[in-house]
Amino acid sequence: MFRKVRFLERLNRFVVLCEEGGRVFPAHLPNPGRLWEILLPGRMLLLEDRKELSLPRVWGAIKEEGIVFLDTSATTSVAQKLLEEGKIEDLKGFGVVRREVPLWGSRLDFLLKRGEEECFLEVKSCTLFFDGLAMFPDAVTVRGRKHLELLGKVGGVVLFVVHSPSCFAFLPDFHTDFDFARTLHSLREKLRIYAIAVRWRESGDFEYVRNLSIPWELYEREAQDRGSYILAGYLREDMCIPIGSLGKQCFLRGFYLYVGSAMQSLSRRVRRHLRKSKKRHWHIDFLSPFLEGLRAFPIQSSERLECAIARELGNIAQGIPFFGVSDCSCRSHLFYLPQPPLQNEAFVEILLRFRMGRIAAQLKDRNAFLS
Ligand SMILES: [Zn+2]
Repeated sequence: MFRKVRFLERLNRFVVLCEEGGRVFPAHLPNPGRLWEILLPGRMLLLEDRKELSLPRVWGAIKEEGIVFLDTSATTSVAQKLLEEGKIEDLKGFGVVRREVPLWGSRLDFLLKRGEEECFLEVKSCTLFFDGLAMFPDAVTVRGRKHLELLGKVGGVVLFVVHSPSCFAFLPDFHTDFDFARTLHSLREKLRIYAIAVRWRESGDFEYVRNLSIPWELYEREAQDRGSYILAGYLREDMCIPIGSLGKQCFLRGFYLYVGSAMQSLSRRVRRHLRKSKKRHWHIDFLSPFLEGLRAFPIQSSERLECAIARELGNIAQGIPFFGVSDCSCRSHLFYLPQPPLQNEAFVEILLRFRMGRIAAQLKDRNAFLS
């Protein structure tokens, strides 16, 4: 039913480049997410050919823990099947009255009915998971947040369909979209929120696996606008730059990763780093004006993790001695990679380990303690 092809590169939001038997060709990706941990060079994708489409369409990806379903547009059909099978606890006996329900200039996925009782259902497709923890969204989603606010006014159910059988817990991704996470948390008493893990097969079918726990107490501890961050940017050519107290330093063309922390107002610190004009205070302030495509990866946490992150980055990238370490005993907090970090599996792994793996480990410890 599906063709197995090798992922090479994402050309834009909706088109990827694939390779099959030496032939390279584009395919349509029906998923607007970032998908960093899925779209790594060499990953096997499952494609379907449809007569009516000019490009083959990506249906899923093969990860170690199973097939990840990638067609966001089909998630409502998955939800409808879960509903009909009675897998959404509070919605047993409800039937679909209408899909794509227009409401105050927006749209909600379902209007449901049981006797005289009506209920709205909004569905989100979750493909980001690590060590048993699922998170959504993987990119800032203003539209997603508006759906939550709208649902908050009329009441209803939010369902996160998690495309991995190995997950046991779900949280909103407060590292990536602090506002979405905060909105979901603030509505947790008002809305009924479910996350359901499903297992996909190469035949194109799926089955229900389990309802996931949503450990809000960990969210409340970890998502307090504090923690660490990795800044990444590209230096277009070899360059020698005066770096404050370090003096003139020479840098190779390539990608630079800088680690810092702000145990208060992490979001403000990140915004400051991304601003073009600022007073030069830290070593990175002397380098960052020369970096292109500067972006930040916040890692919200109750603990200060910057030196632990720096140690891990030192294992996969070359440290620039004495850079950014005035306050600690590390060798460096700035690292060089010749290739883009998001195409580097080891970098993505480190990011997810600090963002999600730490939380998953705490949950596992607690569950082991309880059982
Ligand atoms: Zn350090």
